[in-house]
Amino acid sequence: MDYRLAREKMVKNQLIARGIQDARVLQAMGKIPRDRFVQEALVSEAYNDYPLPIGHGQTISQPYIVAMMTEALELKGDENVLEIGTGSGYQTAILAELSRWVYTVERIRPLMENAKRVLTELGHKNIFFKAFDGTLGWKEYEPYDAIIVAAGAPKIPQPLLDQLAEGGRLVIPLGNRYSQELVQITRKNGQFVEKGLGGCRFVDLIGIHGWQDSIKES
Ligand code: SAH
Repeated sequence: MDYRLAREKMVKNQLIARGIQDARVLQAMGKIPRDRFVQEALVSEAYNDYPLPIGHGQTISQPYIVAMMTEALELKGDENVLEIGTGSGYQTAILAELSRWVYTVERIRPLMENAKRVLTELGHKNIFFKAFDGTLGWKEYEPYDAIIVAAGAPKIPQPLLDQLAEGGRLVIPLGNRYSQELVQITRKNGQFVEKGLGGCRFVDLIGIHGWQDSIKES
């Protein structure tokens, strides 16, 4: 089935209508087949205006949230991007369209393996995967021009600030377990400048520099 029309509608009604302006972001979201990143039983809902379960208690983010976070990374095409929370791999595909290299970290190995399979099938060749605690970042390939965290954190993990390049942008949901604010942090002359982008609700960022109490439970 061809979901091109569903994608066009999604871009128009959910993204442009709500103020997403970056033409490259709109183009990428009009191109990437979101239907390939959801469970078979939910394919008919793939382009709807809400998150969907992807197993292991996790979700694929709502299209608008993916667009807003990606826009806030201000990608031009030649960046090294670090993504924490691969999940379904949908956001990863959007990042891979818009930057040079994507380094993506996921703590739940089966999710990482599944995302890797789908992204490989779709022909993406500029993505590196790691099953690990992403609150520690990915030291080997730092610094990153852009870092995106797709899970809610109580505070900004220090390793991510350390691994952000001068001039780089970090986008992360910060708050308690029930609601967060999306925050864009820009590293300017060695300082970190914060800007709020609005309220949101994400699953927990579980790790040494995230919600530590859940590390053992899941
Ligand atoms: N952008 C993804 C969002 C997935 S939900 C998508 O749209 O599909 C967030 C993901 O973050 C979950 O898969 C969860 O397992 C992962 N996660 C939570 N804490 C993490 C950590 N410390 N390191 C890496 N991944 C983490």
